[in-house]
Amino acid sequence: MTTGNINVAVENIFPLIKKFLYSDHEIFLRELISNATDATLKLKHLTNIGEAPGVEYGNPQIEVKIDPETQKLHIIDQGIGMTAEEVQKYINEVAFSGAEEFLEKYKDSAKDSGIIGHFGLGFYSAFMVADKVEIISKSFKDEPACHWTCDGSPKYTLEASDKTERGTEIILHINEDSKEFLEEGRISELLTKYNKFMPVSIKFGTREESKTTGEGEDAKEEKLTVDNIINNPNPAWTKLPADLKEEDYNSFYRELYPMQFEEPLFHIHLNVDYPFNLTGILYFPKLGNDLNIQKDRIQLYQNQVFVTDNVEGIVPEFLTMLKGVIDSPDIPLNVSRSYLQADGNVKKISSYITRKVADKLKSLFNENREDFQNKWNDIKVVIEYGMLSEDKFFEKADKFALYPTVDGSYYTFEELQEKIKDAQTDKDGKMVILYASDKDAQHTYINQAKERGYEVLLLDSPIVGHLIQKLETSKENISFSRVDSDSIDNLIKKDEEKISKLSEQEQETLKTTLDEVIPKEKFTVQLEALDSNASPFTITQPEFMRRMKEMSATGGGG
Ligand code: ADP
Ligand code: MG
Repeated sequence: MTTGNINVAVENIFPLIKKFLYSDHEIFLRELISNATDATLKLKHLTNIGEAPGVEYGNPQIEVKIDPETQKLHIIDQGIGMTAEEVQKYINEVAFSGAEEFLEKYKDSAKDSGIIGHFGLGFYSAFMVADKVEIISKSFKDEPACHWTCDGSPKYTLEASDKTERGTEIILHINEDSKEFLEEGRISELLTKYNKFMPVSIKFGTREESKTTGEGEDAKEEKLTVDNIINNPNPAWTKLPADLKEEDYNSFYRELYPMQFEEPLFHIHLNVDYPFNLTGILYFPKLGNDLNIQKDRIQLYQNQVFVTDNVEGIVPEFLTMLKGVIDSPDIPLNVSRSYLQADGNVKKISSYITRKVADKLKSLFNENREDFQNKWNDIKVVIEYGMLSEDKFFEKADKFALYPTVDGSYYTFEELQEKIKDAQTDKDGKMVILYASDKDAQHTYINQAKERGYEVLLLDSPIVGHLIQKLETSKENISFSRVDSDSIDNLIKKDEEKISKLSEQEQETLKTTLDEVIPKEKFTVQLEALDSNASPFTITQPEFMRRMKEMSATGGGG
């Protein structure tokens, strides 16, 4: 038997990396700005722990510049920089991550430093859009600057440079197919998408700002040219809940969704560091009966770098109706979704979020029931959907899920049971919960039930049919019936005598006529009425018939 090492020649994987590393070419900018950010945060960390003597950290910036004339794109940082030796080590060795090495070296102190990189591949994404890439870098250490050039083949040149300021400039010679990345609008769009909340200021060109100088009659409008900073380096989710007011949460919401004019109903600030790291803010928007679940609204970040707004598999499905951000360095980013769904961390994150949301709803309910009731119709679809799909959530939500009545009262399930347990049982002793789905269309039936002193719920959400089934199977000895599903007196056992406002003769005639036109197996005819205001007769369709029809219309139960 022989064993050995498979020899992977760099020439062979290089084109593969360029082609397949990322399906989306545009992310090269995210990767390079992430590196520039890492370089800046590393320097910050070293100055903090006193390992960068003589360095004035100041207020470093990252600058992005485009020059359509020469077809170049520049990314310039004032970070840690690289010596020639470090370029050899970090850049020339594909898949060797300097970020990972740094975190390893400063394990104890740097774990919260916000360093982004860790695969050691991001830099090479530059070759997806550039024919040639240059690095000009000056380390914070007292060593000469260097200049690295590579045209995408495994050959490179490395020489001395006369750069004097600390930091790194990456120059991309944009290729013919990627000219879009020389357009101001396109770069702006990408910066806003990926870098809007990154922790180091990012400058892209300049903009005009008007400023008033002088006072009274001397007041003058002055036009100033200022740096166009595209990001907010300290977004709300990175702060402590105690340091934020309601208005801060609302204004962050507007920052996240500039086109959204409606205020959110409430927010949930997520903050956990064990057993995984996760921060974020989730917002409940007004949803009403809209089950047109618009996904892709929660944005996922890793250390303040935008990753995706498709959070499927990370957040339980029912919560994808919410808005907001989640930031976790523990979510593996550059891997496929199927891998993501199997990842242990991701599963924990999902159940943590579910629990947090349930707890927040519970405390809103406990602290201000009236307010919670007022919001109920706008949030119920999320809660009902969650109760249907996640058993853990069902257990918690069962304490605060509300069941409104046609008269505008709101009961929890327990309160409802308490309220009706004596009066509303069927002949087998099962508790009968009456509900209506449409107050106008079913008003005759609603009135009949109310005349008998019964409670009628108003359940009109689009998934209530499924929720009812879930409740019937998870609770003992209850059944739901829509008010028009059978004659009320067949549904509920009642001792009082039934009165009809018709004479016996009239009843006979009516019955024969109705029997002829109404198929008995599908409908029930009732000729009794409790008092003179009620209708002389009612026709009902049994609950099971109707449910069957609904199920086949919506494609089965859930
Ligand atoms: P990763 O960021 O995952 O470590 P990259 O391929 O993106 O991998 O970068 C490789 C390494 O090159 C980085 O870890 C870092 O050491 C070095 N590097 C890249 N860009 C810069 C920069 N702008 N300033 C300083 N070092 C950099
Ligand atoms: Mg990187």
